[in-house]
Amino acid sequence: MSDLFANIAFPTAVREVFTYRVPAVFSEKLTPGMRVWVPLQSHMAIGMTVKTHSNTPDFKTKEIAKILDDQPVMSAEMLELTEWVHRFYYASWGETIQAALPVGLNFQSEKYIRLAKQFQLPHLGIEKEIIETILEKGEYSLRDAEKRWQNTGSKIINRLVKKGLLEIWEEPKVRVEAKKEKKWNWEESVTSEIVDKYWNQYTDGKQPKWVKALKELHDIGMPLRQSQLAGLEYVDSYSLNRINKEGLIGYEKVPVRHEIPNLEYDPSKIKTLNVHQDYAFQRISQKIEEQKFQNFLLYGVTGSGKTEVYIHALKKVLEAGKGGLVLVPEIALTPQTVRRFYQIFGDNIAVLHSRLNQRERYEAWQDLQSGKKKIAIGARSAVFAPVHDLGIIIMDEEHDSSYKQDDPAPRYHAREVAIMRAYKNNAVMVAGSATPSMVSLHSVQQNKSVLLKLPSRHATADLPDVKVLDLKQYKNAMRGSLAIPLYLDIEKALSRNEQIILLYNRRGFASYLQCESCGHIVECPHCSVSLTYHKYQKNLRCHYCGYSRSVPYKCPNCGDHSVVEKGSGTQQIEEDISKLFPEARLLRMDQDTTSGKNAHARILNKFGRREADILIGTQIVAKGLDFPEVTVVGVINSDTELAFPSYRSSERMFQLLSQVAGRSGRSLKKGIVYFQTWQPDHIAIICARKHDYDRFAEVEMEQRKQLSYPPFSRILQINFKSKDGTAVHKVAHIFSECLIKAGNNAPVLGPSPSAVIRVYNEYRWECLLKISPTNGAKVIEHLLNNAFQFYDSRKPRGASKVRITVNVDAL
Ligand code: ADP
Ligand code: ZN
Repeated sequence: MSDLFANIAFPTAVREVFTYRVPAVFSEKLTPGMRVWVPLQSHMAIGMTVKTHSNTPDFKTKEIAKILDDQPVMSAEMLELTEWVHRFYYASWGETIQAALPVGLNFQSEKYIRLAKQFQLPHLGIEKEIIETILEKGEYSLRDAEKRWQNTGSKIINRLVKKGLLEIWEEPKVRVEAKKEKKWNWEESVTSEIVDKYWNQYTDGKQPKWVKALKELHDIGMPLRQSQLAGLEYVDSYSLNRINKEGLIGYEKVPVRHEIPNLEYDPSKIKTLNVHQDYAFQRISQKIEEQKFQNFLLYGVTGSGKTEVYIHALKKVLEAGKGGLVLVPEIALTPQTVRRFYQIFGDNIAVLHSRLNQRERYEAWQDLQSGKKKIAIGARSAVFAPVHDLGIIIMDEEHDSSYKQDDPAPRYHAREVAIMRAYKNNAVMVAGSATPSMVSLHSVQQNKSVLLKLPSRHATADLPDVKVLDLKQYKNAMRGSLAIPLYLDIEKALSRNEQIILLYNRRGFASYLQCESCGHIVECPHCSVSLTYHKYQKNLRCHYCGYSRSVPYKCPNCGDHSVVEKGSGTQQIEEDISKLFPEARLLRMDQDTTSGKNAHARILNKFGRREADILIGTQIVAKGLDFPEVTVVGVINSDTELAFPSYRSSERMFQLLSQVAGRSGRSLKKGIVYFQTWQPDHIAIICARKHDYDRFAEVEMEQRKQLSYPPFSRILQINFKSKDGTAVHKVAHIFSECLIKAGNNAPVLGPSPSAVIRVYNEYRWECLLKISPTNGAKVIEHLLNNAFQFYDSRKPRGASKVRITVNVDAL
């Protein structure tokens, strides 16, 4: 029999996989998808088996030391998908696999210390304490030891290791154990008569507590989990133990079940589709029956009933015995959506929530991996959820930029990965949006995707009126930051007891401190950005690295006392509004007020309960809100997106404004929306105002075509980072030349310093290469491999201090 070898991927930036020999004892057991424990350079590491084969390599191989999983934790399907992502996004296969696995199934190991064989007991202080501890415990986690004995401890441990008294060894941390609880049940022979006998031993009312508990258990019926016992009158740990001692009940330990709170399960509440919904559903349904891949773009304004179509399609897939995947931009912002899916599918759904802790996430993953649950719902990374027999992938709000991962690698776009995954599984992909991305629209125009339209809102609610306020015209007719018509309407709404939402787009615009004498702006010492002034906390903070400092009472540059606040943030707007409407109750929702757990929901609920009249917030208020009492919505600065140097500024602005316009007037009261802008003639403003997606898309698409931006090209962005400003500059230039050569003289934009050139004391440069959109993984990989190869022979001095990363399809 020939020798068996395995290709192992590691979660590092190195793109190659490594070949190891599989010892004969493991050759029966080892299959791709299992993690292994292997020597790597001078230490031991966890890797993933991606392939086994019998091609003897022409170099010396090391051996696999241990197999860490009994069953593969990655299916053949997921190995294939992650391989594609690895090649298409130029990440390492191991990094991609790591991103696809829950943290519980990780690649971490832990170091331990134990006594060496030739050890003797030393006499002194901490040395003795350390040795005694290890003698007692047999072994001890190095991390715990270092925590316990601090610095001196580390030194002593090292000394003992050198002397040969201790050894350090490392072990893989294999997985998180499921949290368990007791599940109580009757012992087999216990009957009602026996319970009655205990009860009747006492005169009525004189029964001791544990007998009352026994009766209580009998009345509600067993088995019962520990978590179900709360709220019972007599049952507690004392009485349970007592009854247990009597030999009447026993328990087994079972994994804790995580019920999703406040969710109602009632599949009978599924709605009957209207004509348009039904047409869309039938088209999708047909492909589900044929078991053929098809990409659909479901386009319909907010409230047109897309979610109902998703639900019906998913139901159809489940009835065919298959599973489904639902992707949403951010679970925390879309509780209503999750609730609606839960109502119909109940416990068949695994919710992959970013707020779940490590164990809960592992359990949700495990429920899918084992086939116990058939539907996964989650944000971006859920695209890798191990759903069995995938029949459909639904992507809500497909235009949302949170579907693209920027850092760390793999820098994938969940939409592309989803399409590829659906394709490989002969599944259906349904991407929905009220403002489809240019990329998805282009697919439709290229006949790669089928457009399904929901032309109107389900109920009678009309889209609200939108008025544009030209700030140039109102320059002398402002009340604070509000143009007079908006101001007056807010006043009216308040007098009628209605609610108002004001949106202040803060991207990059925040208040900062500037010296009026010398013009000095107080900057972050680590990043090349001004520090943001936080009025209430009375401090300055860096929004890139988190650095904070107190407010200087004089200018750090010239020493003058004239440091004043400039620019405006949401806090300032809030203050401004409170001066204008001193009677109104205000609520603010932005990055600062929503950092805590459930803060979003708290603020929204408060507003929903009408405990505030005006909600002021950043773009997050535009997402997923639906308040019937809101009649006025104002966007204070509609055009700030345009200040960002991105080919997507206009698209993003249109999406944001359309979303806002779609928010108001969802109820029966007539709503009005105001856009305050310096550029009333901008296409995004004109079209968002008229709810005219088609016109916007037409103009935008033409522009993209002329400038050959995506979807008419693919953008490869190369990023360079280093603490050494000279080296990074040099490397960026040389690498750009290599890229030009590798791309057969394709034009490379840059290299140029990134928008924020210094972050965390690192200098950042970038360059861009546009390639044809038809280029797939093979071409991209080939091109970049060549560029790196050319670069290898031209590395300048200091090159090792520069990190080069690749972002395919950078947004
Ligand atoms: P979208 O996902 O496009 O924003 P939704 O699916 O949330 O739209 O629908 C908007 C509202 O209309 C929801 O309250 C939903 O329950 C209701 N609705 C949609 N379709 C139907 C239907 N066929 N029958 C009854 N109500 C519907
Ligand atoms: Zn900083």
